[in-house]
Amino acid sequence: DHDRIVSADMRGEDAEASLRPQSLDEFTGQAEARSNLKIFIEAAKARGEALDHVLFVGPPGLGKTTLAQIMAKELGVNFRSTSGPVIAKAGDLAALLTNLEERDVLFIDEIHRLNPAVEEILYPAMEDYQLDLIIGEGPAARSVKIDLAKFTLVAATTRLGLLTTPLRDRFGIPVRLNFYTVEELEQIVRRGARLVGLSMTDEGAQEIARRARGTPRIAGRLLRRVRDFAEVAKAEAVTRQIADEALTRLSVDNKGLDQLDARYLTMIAHSFGGGPVGVETIAAGLSEPRDAIEDIIEPYLIQQGLIQRTPRGRLLTANAWRHLGLDVPKDLAQ
Ligand code: ADP
Repeated sequence: DHDRIVSADMRGEDAEASLRPQSLDEFTGQAEARSNLKIFIEAAKARGEALDHVLFVGPPGLGKTTLAQIMAKELGVNFRSTSGPVIAKAGDLAALLTNLEERDVLFIDEIHRLNPAVEEILYPAMEDYQLDLIIGEGPAARSVKIDLAKFTLVAATTRLGLLTTPLRDRFGIPVRLNFYTVEELEQIVRRGARLVGLSMTDEGAQEIARRARGTPRIAGRLLRRVRDFAEVAKAEAVTRQIADEALTRLSVDNKGLDQLDARYLTMIAHSFGGGPVGVETIAAGLSEPRDAIEDIIEPYLIQQGLIQRTPRGRLLTANAWRHLGLDVPKDLAQ
C-alpha cells in the first residue's frame, strides 16, 4: 500500500535480517529498556523460571522484534513468532501454545489485532499457563483444560491505547521504545556500513542518521539506497555530499521527512489554515488509513515539534510553518 521509501513496513526485511543485532550488548540505543531487560533476564535465569510477559510499545521499526529475538537468545530458549492478524481461530493459538517448551519465548507482533475470541484464550494461558478449550458443539460440548509449559509471551504493539485493559494488565513488564537520537542512529549506520563493506565518512553516516526519522529500520533502508547510489556514481566513500544527493533524490528532506509527511503538513497548512483538524479528515484527505496516520506519521511529527494534538484536532506549530517555508500565522508567532 505504501510506496514510501521511508515507510516503516516490513518490505526488505530479508536484507535487514543480516544486520540485526544478536545480543543486548550489540543493540544500540534504548538504554533504559535494555538495562531493565538485562536485569529481568538475569533474575529469571538465576531462578530457572520463565521471564514475566513483556509488552513492547512503540512505532514500527524501532526494534521490538529484534529485542524479542535477543531476549530468547539471552534466555537460552526457543523463539516462536507470529502476529495478531495471522491467528484467525482459537485453535491456531492453541496449537502454538501447546508446542511451546518450558521458558520458551512466544512473540506476537501487532497483538492489538488479535480477534477477541483468540484473546480470551490468551488470558488463562498467560496467567495460569492453562488452556481452556470448548470441544464440540451444542449439548455435547464440554470444556477441557490443558496444562501448558511455563512460557514467556513477548508482544508488540504500536500504541498502548489499542489494547484492551484486561490484556494490558497481564503483562508484568511493559517496555516503551522511543525514537532514536541522531548519535545512536549514526552508530547503527556505521555498523551497517561496516557489515556490508561500504566505506563511509563520519559526516556521511551522520547525514543518513539525521534523515532516518528516528528509526533504525529506515536508517537501514536509506543506507542501502545510498549504497546503490554510491556504487553507480563510483564514489570511493559515502561522504556527506553523496548521502545528501542520494537522499534528496529519494525526496527525503533535511529533517528526514518524506513525501507523505510533507503532504500531511502541506494539506493542513493549505486546506485547513494550520488546523485544528480531526484525524479522520486528514486520513480522508491523504487517502491513507487512520491507523497509519496515527501510528507512523504523527508520532515523529509530534516528536519533532511540527504538530500538536489538541482536543479539537491536529494543529501545525510555528516550526512546521517555517519548515514549509511559509509565513508563521500571527496567532502562533508570539
Ligand atoms: P519493529 O519490530 O519495532 O518494527 P524491528 O525489530 O523489526 O522493528 O527492527 C527493524 C530493523 O531495524 C531490524 O531489522 C534491525 O536490522 C534494525 N534495528 C532495530 N533496532 C536496532 C538497533 N537498536 N540497532 C541496530 N539495528 C536495529
